[in-house]
Amino acid sequence: MFRRNCMVCNSSDMKEIINLGLHNFADTFLRKEDLEEPEKLYPLICDLCMSCGQVQLRAVTDPKERYMGHDYSYTSSNSKFSRKHWEEFANTIISRLSLNPGKLVVEAGSNDGFLTKQFLLRGNKVLGVDPSDYMAKLAEKEGVKTIVGLFNKETARKILSEHGKAGLVIANNVFNHSNEPLEFARAAAEILEDNGTFVYEMPYWYISVKDEKFDQIYHEHVSYFTVKSSAAITERAGMYIHDAEVVDYHGGSLRIYAKLKEGNEEHCEKALKMINDEEREGLFRVERYNELMSSVINKRNRFMEEVHHIKNNGGKIIGVGAAAKGNTMLTYYNLNSGILDFVTDSSPHKQGKYTPATRVPITGDEIFSKYEKPHALILSWNISEQIKAILQKINPNIQFITPWKEHNL
Ligand SMILES: [Zn+2]
Repeated sequence: MFRRNCMVCNSSDMKEIINLGLHNFADTFLRKEDLEEPEKLYPLICDLCMSCGQVQLRAVTDPKERYMGHDYSYTSSNSKFSRKHWEEFANTIISRLSLNPGKLVVEAGSNDGFLTKQFLLRGNKVLGVDPSDYMAKLAEKEGVKTIVGLFNKETARKILSEHGKAGLVIANNVFNHSNEPLEFARAAAEILEDNGTFVYEMPYWYISVKDEKFDQIYHEHVSYFTVKSSAAITERAGMYIHDAEVVDYHGGSLRIYAKLKEGNEEHCEKALKMINDEEREGLFRVERYNELMSSVINKRNRFMEEVHHIKNNGGKIIGVGAAAKGNTMLTYYNLNSGILDFVTDSSPHKQGKYTPATRVPITGDEIFSKYEKPHALILSWNISEQIKAILQKINPNIQFITPWKEHNL
């Protein structure tokens, strides 16, 4: 099924800007027995709303299906880097908002509860909401009470009747996953107390476009927010942007602080300046995306020449980091098991599985020690420096290859 109208303003003036072909869900890894079955592939097309600037996926997919295979995949606390980011997040938010201990903090998409727990440890009452029963159980073990379900009007009502209003509602890398972001924002507004804040963050579309990081696009990411589309959605939910900033996570994330509108408050100066920068970058013009796609295609062609040269000379190529964005790249480049020998990942839950659509076997980094001069393609480019240091200890002869211009390894 295709989405014809804007999820934020309902306009039907939608223009196609990006088409990456057919893709499976990026965060679902295949088990050996799944290889005997066909896979569901959906067109990965982004449309731009000419009215409010929202960028969204055209193919509608079922969130339950998207997260069915999620049990053993991504957790908030899966790396030292992300744990540190979420600890800092809690400290920053508490001091910035002068959040009093005892205030209720609700996290939508609370995953394994790692971030929610940071607020618990700092004296707040906390409540998580997550669609995965498995994740909710992990969180409960850590003492984080969790409602299993999507964050919507119904959940908001349940929260209000059982827990009362919240001083802080957080949605990190989850608001952009929602099939109904406007209802999501309205649910957040509904449970906020008068001076409460709704804080959300996700990969910043401005940076993805500027740096040509098309691999942030995958079916789990339904919306690609800018400050402009954030302004449009918060307004429709009765809120305004109180503060906005870019933070160093997922290669550059946008963090928005929204508050309830009580009178005629306006979006803060900083947000208006960021919208100005987005307009100057051309994010709300179709032509900008034509430029982006021709550059992405050129880079792919150049990189594939290098890959074929390596393969023709009997070389081994191993991908590093079985992450969602890596799967967008593997599928779009068609780097399947005929080209990549392995993809490595440190998570024991992913080892032994296969990448979706491209079906490359996943193993541990130690595989690099088995070859004399293997080539490594780092798929998690946002942490490439750390990964490079680890791999060089395993095999100092590794040759790094990359299609990303700013990471000439
Ligand atoms: Zn719109």
